[in-house]
Amino acid sequence: MPAAFSGLRFDNSYARLPDVFYTAVAPQALARPRLAAYSGAAAGLLELPFAPSEGMDFARLLGGESVLEGMQPLAMVYAGHQFGSYNPRLGDGRGLLLGEVVNGRGERWDLHLKGAGLTPYSRHGDGRAVLRSCIREFLASEALAALGIPTTRALAVAVSDTPVYRETAEPGATLLRLAQSHVRFGHFEYFAHTGQVDALRRLADYVVDRHYPEAREADVPLGAFFAEVVRRTACLVARWQAEGFTHGVMNTDNMSILGETLDYGPYGFLDSYEAGYVPNHSDTSGRYAFDQQPSIALWNCWCLARALRPLLDKAELESGLAGFEPEFVAEYSARLRRKFGLAREEEGDRELILDALALLENQTVDYSLFMRRLARVDEDINALLALCAEPQGWHSWLARYRERLARDGREAQARRADMEAVNPAYILRKHLAQEAIAAAEQGDYSGIARLHAVLRNPYVEQAGAEHYSALPPAWSRELCISCSS
Ligand code: AMP
Ligand code: MG
Repeated sequence: MPAAFSGLRFDNSYARLPDVFYTAVAPQALARPRLAAYSGAAAGLLELPFAPSEGMDFARLLGGESVLEGMQPLAMVYAGHQFGSYNPRLGDGRGLLLGEVVNGRGERWDLHLKGAGLTPYSRHGDGRAVLRSCIREFLASEALAALGIPTTRALAVAVSDTPVYRETAEPGATLLRLAQSHVRFGHFEYFAHTGQVDALRRLADYVVDRHYPEAREADVPLGAFFAEVVRRTACLVARWQAEGFTHGVMNTDNMSILGETLDYGPYGFLDSYEAGYVPNHSDTSGRYAFDQQPSIALWNCWCLARALRPLLDKAELESGLAGFEPEFVAEYSARLRRKFGLAREEEGDRELILDALALLENQTVDYSLFMRRLARVDEDINALLALCAEPQGWHSWLARYRERLARDGREAQARRADMEAVNPAYILRKHLAQEAIAAAEQGDYSGIARLHAVLRNPYVEQAGAEHYSALPPAWSRELCISCSS
């Protein structure tokens, strides 16, 4: 056993659930696995060393060659609504829950190995993941965490000599993911739609006991649990909207019961502000476009409500669902107000912000750079206007904005510091991920580490990192993020 792991304590609560919840499956080894990426920040959650001290043994674990004592690898069964249609049987088709670590602080972390081989739920798939998609998930998980957006975490990526066939042969890889739970909305749908009400109740009790213990104090604990899931989901999507993140595939099997970002596929951050942005080229109807995410999230909560119907009164479920909109509006407006540096609340703030977003969209202005430079509106208006195709179109908005800031009566320096603390200098742009992927596919993993380091500290300008805060090159617009991963 690798020395770094010898202290890990496993307590596999999911494996103790009845057989209908999962199938025990061992990982299938990949050829010559090597470590391609490692997150010291994620390692800290498990109380592992910041850098892996036993590189090769760790790679063997990631490559599915061995499991640690105490692990009980299993594939979970679930279902889900995919692009609006119900799929009665999905499940972990290429990922395994290896085990649950309990750290020294008593926190539980699932270790989930993505790309670990075939399972009974693989359907027509090969059970594998390619390097580019593992790198994209690794970078995004760690970038969103640094932006304060709830997300699963990524401990490490391994690359191998096993070829995986997508449009062409690509290097097979794995990603070791951490989350406090891998239960999805789709788990509840599976048991509800198959009429397994006892298992449904068991699942709900399991999730409440493990993750929502405070709901036990309520008159209707399951009602309180559902309302809290809805609230967290609304809050999550509000943060995505404020930071310009598009998930890409908001199927109910990709919705975490903890309200975290889960299952990174063809996601994307906005470069220029575009409400209808669709990162997934297979999503031809734009179902999962950037501006559709709030209503899709609510629709997904409604699917969860339907699955909970055998356990809860309609009134309870309706009252839970009713919590979505107020939570979304409150969180989204609070986030945007901070990003725009508005301290007191005033009538007209909403219009001021919406007018700015409309101008950004009309002039295809880079969203995150604009917001970052807006913090220095008093010092360097030229840097801000240089981003805009028609600077004169901004004059009247800027005049309103300055008057509005003046009414807050705050020191410019204090406002600027506040704004820079919530408007990142660095985001995970498509072309930055692509550069790191292209180098990694040639065996050079240093680009991943460098980009990861920049993204872990997104609010502080870092010496020598200008490349990462620049406008995207023209070729970035042509980048096609395929669904195949
Ligand atoms: P996703 O769209 O990646 O969230 O995947 C949807 C479903 O397909 C999940 O049940 C996955 O486990 C399964 N899946 C995706 N890719 C593969 C693959 N290469 N092999 C087996 N199952 C897969
Ligand atoms: Mg998925």
